[in-house]
This record gives sequence, structure tokens and C-alpha cells, in this order.
Amino acid sequence: MGKNYSMMNIGTFKGNLTENERVMAGKELALTGSEISFNYMQAGQYTPFVHSHKQNEEVYIVVNGSGKLMVDGEEFEIQTGSVIRVAPAAERAIKAESGGLTFICIQTHANSLTQATQDDAIINESKASWMKG
Ligand code: ZN
Repeated sequence: MGKNYSMMNIGTFKGNLTENERVMAGKELALTGSEISFNYMQAGQYTPFVHSHKQNEEVYIVVNGSGKLMVDGEEFEIQTGSVIRVAPAAERAIKAESGGLTFICIQTHANSLTQATQDDAIINESKASWMKG
């Protein structure tokens, strides 16, 4: 039986991700409910197409830099700390501004989440080594 976890290390974004790099985590982590990509776009770079999705919503999390996102024709600024949910059918494109843009994109099947931590978590009896008593 395999372990109940998988782990990868992408290092620091600007250290390991260079020149418009994208690292997909899904296969390496054997994700079953989402796809996560780690993206770095150099200053001024942009996706050369507009795209939408059939079933998946996307959450873009900007961890460094700034850029622009276009969703259904509306263009707006995004920067470090911006977190944007984009519905599947929305037409989107992204562009990095002068300092480059580092972001995480999480794809999940829209409407698949029926509950979350508050209802899903179970407090167990076992202890980690750092727990006293
Ligand atoms: Zn997408």
C-alpha cells in the first residue's frame, strides 16, 4: 500500500522557475480532485491565446509581481496577493507587467465541492512527536 501523501518541491519561484516556465503538480503529486500549476511569466509576456474551460473553474493566486487579466473582455490589474476565481465558460487571458508575474493556478471541477473543513475534518487520537501530553 502506498503512502497517504505525496510531496514535491518547486523551490523559490524566481529561483527555479525561469523564462515563462510552468510546473504542473498533478501527475507528480497524483492529485485526484484538482490540477495545480506554478507559473512564471517574464516582464511583458502574455498567453498568445484566449481560452475557456469545459468543466473546470480556475483560481489564480498571484504570489509575486503584477499583470493584467482579461475575463470576458474586461481587463483589470492583478498584483501580489490577488486571488481570482474564473468560472469555466469565461474567456480569459493573462499578461505579465514590467516586473514579471508569478502565480499559482488551481483547477477544480466546478461545483464539485460539497463541503469543506468544518464539516469534513475528523479530530484523531494519534499524536505528532511535537505534541506534548
Ligand atoms: Zn485554463
